[in-house]
Amino acid sequence: MASGCFSPSLTRHSEKAITSLDITVEQGLSSMKLHEYQAKEIFRKFGIPVPKGHVATSVNEAVNAAQGLPGPPWVVKAQVHAGGRGKGGGVRVVKSLDELKQATSDILGRALVTKQTGPEGKKVHQVLIEEGVNIDREFYLAVVIDRSKARPVMIFSQAGGMEIEEVAARSPELVLKEFVDPKVGWMPFQAKNMVYTIAPLPGADTVKELMSLTGALCRLFMAQDCSLAEINPLVITKDGKALAVDGKINIDDNGLIRQKEMKALDDLREKDPLDAKAEQYNINYIRLSGNIGAMVNGAGLAMATMDVIKLAGAEPANFLDVGGGASEEMVKKGFEIILEDKNVKAILINIFGGILRCDVLARGVLAAAEKIDIKVPVIIRLEGTNVQEGRAILQNSNLKFMVAKDMAEAASLVTEQVRRSA
Ligand code: ADP
Ligand code: MG
Repeated sequence: MASGCFSPSLTRHSEKAITSLDITVEQGLSSMKLHEYQAKEIFRKFGIPVPKGHVATSVNEAVNAAQGLPGPPWVVKAQVHAGGRGKGGGVRVVKSLDELKQATSDILGRALVTKQTGPEGKKVHQVLIEEGVNIDREFYLAVVIDRSKARPVMIFSQAGGMEIEEVAARSPELVLKEFVDPKVGWMPFQAKNMVYTIAPLPGADTVKELMSLTGALCRLFMAQDCSLAEINPLVITKDGKALAVDGKINIDDNGLIRQKEMKALDDLREKDPLDAKAEQYNINYIRLSGNIGAMVNGAGLAMATMDVIKLAGAEPANFLDVGGGASEEMVKKGFEIILEDKNVKAILINIFGGILRCDVLARGVLAAAEKIDIKVPVIIRLEGTNVQEGRAILQNSNLKFMVAKDMAEAASLVTEQVRRSA
């Protein structure tokens, strides 16, 4: 499909959708990722055929799993929240139980490094043992949200087997898109638009399977509040069966409130421990690369505080909003989260006491400070309800907090502290 038929802004978004399939995160829409084996369970429920397989957390379990499957050959697949496992050695085809044991013990418990993990890799806690499939052809199929069109878009390419990013860059005409009208859903003609471009066209039964599979993926995407549902590769086997050989599902965080079953699939081991902790206590936290930790109530004030930190010549280590109605417990947790980031050289606490009263905040900070050994200076600026009580609690404590009278003073104190520690 020529990109010329789109408006410039749409083209940009669409290209983004293809160049990075984790677009939802980049575009500020955060989502929960599932493992391949979990995605495939959901595929099954929606009638999308997948290879037979079982998840295993030890060599013994892997052997048991394989013995209950057709094969050899079997495939041992690392379950981590990252793609590119094949090239990184995380997908191994094995032809005997001995090879299976070897591959499983090679992969389990180690960090797998792929193009998407960063150099430190991701630790593999479980593997998926699957029947080896006799692959004839590999395609790409996914549904994502096109934000500029405010609707889901299905992306299909018959140039499977290589990364979709490369296909989009080298031969964009091989990447087809069909926008889904949320009111009517996926239409049979849209399935035809995609599947009938495959050259050479597979047999009639296979074509039918592929068409119904596109509909199923679309229904799944809508029903589970997905931000991404991807099959790469979608294969045709030597005996003409359509099969989802890989699966990736991300659930839009905003949908999790009505996706309790999905929420239960969240693997906390895959997350940055600080992110997981923040999420657990309902704290809005985004880790940044600077060295000034900031705890603020309200997103607007948090942005302003980050600006103040920058103006003062330093860089914020995080965005952390404890919210308007934060409890003492939440403040304590927020404080702990900031202090766990080893880059933090000073902490600026900037609170406007409205619903969250200044004395509550002060007690939260003290409670946290009593439990953690604080080695960095803490600058606190309070204003609003019960500000006198709040300041008094901090000043009368035997912990060395610096209490600033306003934002300007807080900013200059914070810069000074960082300069000193440099
Ligand atoms: P990733 O995308 O993380 O590299 P995939 O699941 O796509 O992982 O696997 C990489 C490649 O390994 C696939 O493109 C496919 O060729 C092969 N493969 C994966 N699972 C199987 C399977 N069950 N049978 C045969 N080949 C497989
Ligand atoms: Mg894949």
